Amino acid sequence: MARSNLQISILGSTGSVGASTLAVIDENPAYKVFALTAHRNAKLLFEQCEKYKPEFAVLSEAAGPEFTTLLVNSNLNTKLLVGESGLIEVASNPNVDIVMAAIVGAAGLESTLAAASNGKRLLLANKESLVMTGDLLKQVARDSGAEILPIDSEHNAIFQCLPQMKSSVHTDTRAGVEKVVLTASGGPFLDTPIEQLQSVTPEQACLHPKWSMGRKISVDSATMMNKGLEFIEACYLFDLEPSQVDVLIHPQSIVHSMVHYKDGSVLAQMANPDMRVPIAYGLAWPKRVSSGVAPLDLTVEEPLQFSKPDLSRFPCLRLGIEAAGERGSAPTVLNAANEVAVEAFLEGEIGFLEIPLIIESVRSQIPCEPAPSLAIIRDLDRQARRLSKELILKDFCRGASA
Ligand code: NAD
Ligand code: MG
Repeated sequence: MARSNLQISILGSTGSVGASTLAVIDENPAYKVFALTAHRNAKLLFEQCEKYKPEFAVLSEAAGPEFTTLLVNSNLNTKLLVGESGLIEVASNPNVDIVMAAIVGAAGLESTLAAASNGKRLLLANKESLVMTGDLLKQVARDSGAEILPIDSEHNAIFQCLPQMKSSVHTDTRAGVEKVVLTASGGPFLDTPIEQLQSVTPEQACLHPKWSMGRKISVDSATMMNKGLEFIEACYLFDLEPSQVDVLIHPQSIVHSMVHYKDGSVLAQMANPDMRVPIAYGLAWPKRVSSGVAPLDLTVEEPLQFSKPDLSRFPCLRLGIEAAGERGSAPTVLNAANEVAVEAFLEGEIGFLEIPLIIESVRSQIPCEPAPSLAIIRDLDRQARRLSKELILKDFCRGASA
């Protein structure tokens, strides 16, 4: 990355991580925005383009005409691309140095892979693409010389606490690491009586006590599937066995994760719960730049608490840990079923407790491929989605719990 002004494509710029990335860029104008992308929100994407003047904007096809109308009535030189090919173009363009992968879910897979296969610095927020592809994403990055910098706050914390590495994807210098501990806030239902969980609403599930995030990851936090996905993410990113990963509930979300060493030392990374911290770290690594986040003042924080998660309250966490143990295509299927079930919950089609039932049923019906190719991964993702939707249509869960 020899250019003085580093060029960045922000995939999913209208989302929560996307907005935080733009806020860090406001603090550090040396980064130049090359492309901004969104799904359907043409108006917000256009407002962002007016401010950052990127070369390209990308939208899903249906939202293209609305953006074009705004564009022709402006002086902006931004070019509009549409659909997945547009995302791939701005993730792989030779003028781009850094790609922030902040699209939610499997919709971010192909553009994340494009950044990884074109030698970019890949700021990986889109955990689902790593969960789906596992070692393959890392292999693609290794082959092209791309750097993967974890943006998920826990993995970013672990990365910060590991011995300094030449590149994020070479983890063989982890000498002396015994295990890592992922912290989890426990989400909005940590203390809700279990018998009330079936009737919680999407709005309640999205009201996270510590983090303001998109709706899908908010529901994942409420079920703790988010920690299940992060468990898998940690195994892949840092070449760990599931026995080397622990989860602790830490409701204050100040300690973002920890690394235990053989000599008994434990290194933890702390910060106020704000995604601008890991984003700034990923952008500037191995240097540090300002994130705009207020300094942490431990004297005013509530006492920091840690406890073990209750897997009977959070079956999605158990399902994530089980899939991490199986590896192969198990995490792909888990992720696809979860995405469909969460969407159905957000649409009011199923209850909160039916999310793990659907995932478990789909997992039991699709055998695990031990070493799937990308083509098999894409195919199993489609199969798992189809099966999940069939189960929802058949009202499987209501039948099962009746
Ligand atoms: P969000 O819902 O707020 O934003 C998602 C972005 O992706 C939006 O810009 C949206 O327009 C775009 N998008 C959605 N569907 C798309 C599609 N089909 N095609 C193209 N673009 C599409 O989500 P978020 O909370 O910012 O999370 C983004 C990713 O980062 C997720 O993978 C999440 O797990 C991860 N992450 C988020 C946080 C957080 O604090 N929000 C923390 C850690 C990791
Ligand atoms: Mg996280």
